Amino acid sequence: MTREQKKNIKKKFVADRNLGKLCRLLRMMGLDCVFARTSVPSELIEIAKEENRVILTRKKNITSLRYADFLIIQDEMPFNQAIEVVKAYDIDPLENAFTRCIECNVPLIGVKKEDVRGKVPSYIFKTRDEFFMCPSCGRIYWRGTHKDNMREILEEIKKGSQDP
Ligand SMILES: [Zn+2]
Repeated sequence: MTREQKKNIKKKFVADRNLGKLCRLLRMMGLDCVFARTSVPSELIEIAKEENRVILTRKKNITSLRYADFLIIQDEMPFNQAIEVVKAYDIDPLENAFTRCIECNVPLIGVKKEDVRGKVPSYIFKTRDEFFMCPSCGRIYWRGTHKDNMREILEEIKKGSQDP
């Protein structure tokens, strides 16, 4: 395992209720991010401490947050918010990309092509060889157009994070 991978796996996040889209972008990068559905500092802190997570929040003037690791997100756009997180924690967005379910925040497992027959559109089945499944919701992922679009987004985020 490279140093970069270790770093990415170690950092876990909890996103406040204003940061649902950012949360999904981080999961796309393979990062562990729970969506809190709250912006109440005490509740965020509770989750952060219990599960050893960094709080991501849009609330700017919160002094109570000093009792936990946190990052105050400045931008309104999820894309730019992702750049803020990537910069702050020195994350490579592509290193562990697409290893986690975007809906459930659960690591994906590889599945045999035969096992997804009939569960994915037949043109996908014919043209792809690598499939992954979320053990929680059963959603099947594959390398394809949709994923390539998402990869482009992550590449843009990576580029953006390297700008001075
Ligand atoms: Zn899932």
